[in-house]
Amino acid sequence: MKKFKVGILGATGIVGQNYCKLLQNHPWFEIVDVAASPRSEGKSYKEAVKAKWQMPIPIPNNIEDLIVRDVQDFVKIPDNLDFVFSAINMPTKSQIKELEHQYAKRDLPVISNNSAHRWSPDVPMIIGEINHEHVNVIPIQQKNKNFKKGFIVVKPNCSLQSYLTPIYALEQAGYKVDKLIITTLQAVSGAGYPGVPSLDMIDNIVPFINGEEEKTENEPGKILGKISSKGIENDNSIQISATCTRVPVSDGHTASVNVKFKNKIPIREEIIKIWNSFKSAPQELQLPFAPDQPIIYLKNIDRPQPKKDRDTDKGMAITIGRLRKDTVFDFKFISLSHNTVRGAAGGAILNAELLVKKGFIT
Ligand code: NAP
Repeated sequence: MKKFKVGILGATGIVGQNYCKLLQNHPWFEIVDVAASPRSEGKSYKEAVKAKWQMPIPIPNNIEDLIVRDVQDFVKIPDNLDFVFSAINMPTKSQIKELEHQYAKRDLPVISNNSAHRWSPDVPMIIGEINHEHVNVIPIQQKNKNFKKGFIVVKPNCSLQSYLTPIYALEQAGYKVDKLIITTLQAVSGAGYPGVPSLDMIDNIVPFINGEEEKTENEPGKILGKISSKGIENDNSIQISATCTRVPVSDGHTASVNVKFKNKIPIREEIIKIWNSFKSAPQELQLPFAPDQPIIYLKNIDRPQPKKDRDTDKGMAITIGRLRKDTVFDFKFISLSHNTVRGAAGGAILNAELLVKKGFIT
């Protein structure tokens, strides 16, 4: 199969570096363009990242000598580019929104990690195992925004996948969820590079992450929503209260979740069975980045732990444990997902594979 030619916007950042690592032997995609801020423009990729390369492997050979393009330099976009992953950070969301719009206008599908477009009803916000059907909103977006071949698809916030996928699995099995109380313990890599100052993080927990609680409480409603003629109509039937904290862990966002069901309450063994047997479109379509088993229940009482469990199935599986009765709600559990892989670059690669299989990236 001829590989799709891919560009990375924000290639020098933490998420951008993860794309470079994860795509190095990808069977369908090949990086041919790396773009970042004017600070990196004109440098070779290895020169641009030399002081901040955070991956546990050397910079892949096929990327190290690519010359970094300024993301705003549309003239230098290679002619052979098929689509872009966006992991850019800019001073304002409206600048990012406009930038991604400019790429889509130039016939390039944009698969974004950014939150700038997450609230447009005609932009799907996808977790492959949950709302893969939301890709069908793309023609509505193309009509609204006058895009021909281009479009924008986004990923949700990096902490969502660890708890929303298990909750969705329970709902699919007929156990409707009424309320959730979620406390996240989020890794420092979630703040990008250089991120939170080391003196704020070592020997410490920071009980505030700007905007994170709002995303945790509101984004599930869009992901669980239905497509209407105007775009996605949110389903806010689950009430969510979130507290988000930053902890001194390098990678892997943990969540402590308390669940109250609407009517029927499953027994503990049934919940574990539902989670361990859950599969969805990415598994059925055998997408290269799909974990074999998206949710894995760990029996040991002291798991999941970021250091031991975040890399399960290439960092794409959600590990979950400590399912027990709650004294106020019905059940509580701990879940974990790799924030820069499942929650960022890996999740977006899975979305791109889904878009190829469904014929939106051709
Ligand atoms: P990061 O490490 O700070 O990287 C930011 C990237 O954006 C770099 O390539 C940087 O280029 C570029 N950039 C910064 N300012 C710019 C400007 N004014 N104009 C053009 N380019 C600019 O951030 P990150 O953690 O990779 O996150 C990237 C995006 O993904 C963010 O929107 C973030 O919210 C989202 N995200 C992150 C995670 C995570 O776990 N880290 C998870 C999900 C989503 P230079 O190197 O040239 O400065």
